[in-house]
Amino acid sequence: MARAYNLSAGPATLPLEVLEEAQQELLDYKGTGMSIMEHSHRGKAYMAVHAEAIANTKELLGIGDDYAVLFLQGGASLQFSMIPMNLLGEGQTADYTNSGAWAAKAIKEAKLIGKVNVAADCGKEIPTRVPLASEMNLTDGAAYVHITSNETISGAQWKSFPKTEAPLVCDMSSDILSRPFNTKDFGLIYAGAQKNLAPAGMALVIMRKDLAERVSGSVPTMLKYSTHIENDSMFNTCPCFTIYMYMLVTRWIKKTGLETLYARNVDKAAKLYRAIDSTDFYKGTAVPACRSDMNVTWRLPSEELEAAFVKEAAEAGFSGLKGHRSVGGIRASIYNAFPVEGVDALVSFMKDFEARNG
Ligand SMILES: *Cc1c(COP(=O)(O)O)cnc(C)c1O
Repeated sequence: MARAYNLSAGPATLPLEVLEEAQQELLDYKGTGMSIMEHSHRGKAYMAVHAEAIANTKELLGIGDDYAVLFLQGGASLQFSMIPMNLLGEGQTADYTNSGAWAAKAIKEAKLIGKVNVAADCGKEIPTRVPLASEMNLTDGAAYVHITSNETISGAQWKSFPKTEAPLVCDMSSDILSRPFNTKDFGLIYAGAQKNLAPAGMALVIMRKDLAERVSGSVPTMLKYSTHIENDSMFNTCPCFTIYMYMLVTRWIKKTGLETLYARNVDKAAKLYRAIDSTDFYKGTAVPACRSDMNVTWRLPSEELEAAFVKEAAEAGFSGLKGHRSVGGIRASIYNAFPVEGVDALVSFMKDFEARNG
């Protein structure tokens, strides 16, 4: 079997051993005579999966009972709306930082719901970056402060998180569980599953339970965090198979160790940035201090060469290197499950491509 090196931004590569385990159990889950996909979400077999998925998350991030771990549908994109619907009261202001395409989408949705202050804006700058904490123009008594920990398209990442008086709300879709962080610094964290966690189909939400009490009575039941907290993410039929995969992935992260994984991620990214910086042929697109460990972005001297690079790379077994259609260039998404050997092979390919075209 020839597995491609999948450098796609999402849905993204999953750990091989997790895929193999899911394959093993696909037709007959632990002797029950059916797939986990076919089990009732209220039955014993699935409930154990669900409980372990939550327990693994709590253990990995040191989360106490004051936080809820939720599995919601609608991806990270629905969170762009649910957050202001639940947390932004009448007459209040929410502070948002604009660091690029994903932050801009969150801002657009929040403006449909309530009053938004863009506290810092570097969303259109090239080279790309995230704001400095010192640039943030925060509102006194803000409902919350929203940041995007890793801009998946531009390849810019917060290396440390700002300390804010108002609850910090963070879109961690493309770097959650790639590095340790202190959950207590955040009021709410959310992430679409399909980058670092699982197949597509859900958003992971980790939130301070008291924040869910802010919601007004007019918000639809399904869009209230309190509904999902009260029902342990089983108000309606949950995305069982995605949560099962998430449980296997979090088991794999626990086995590997989050610190080990983080060191490996930093090392993988550093190899690619070294390859980019060692020549004028490749040019990184993010400010060095903000370079993402998850999405490495760079340009070649011309769009023709970029197209040739993507095409030849695909022929050599590297899939998904084309930059996002809005910005062009090259993007290598090297999430937790992307292997070190794949990065080494890509660096060799880059050197070889330059030798032939530089
Ligand atoms: C992919 C992504 C999203 C959108 O996720 P969906 O699950 O497709 O809604 C939001 N924010 C960031 C940072 C992302 O990378």
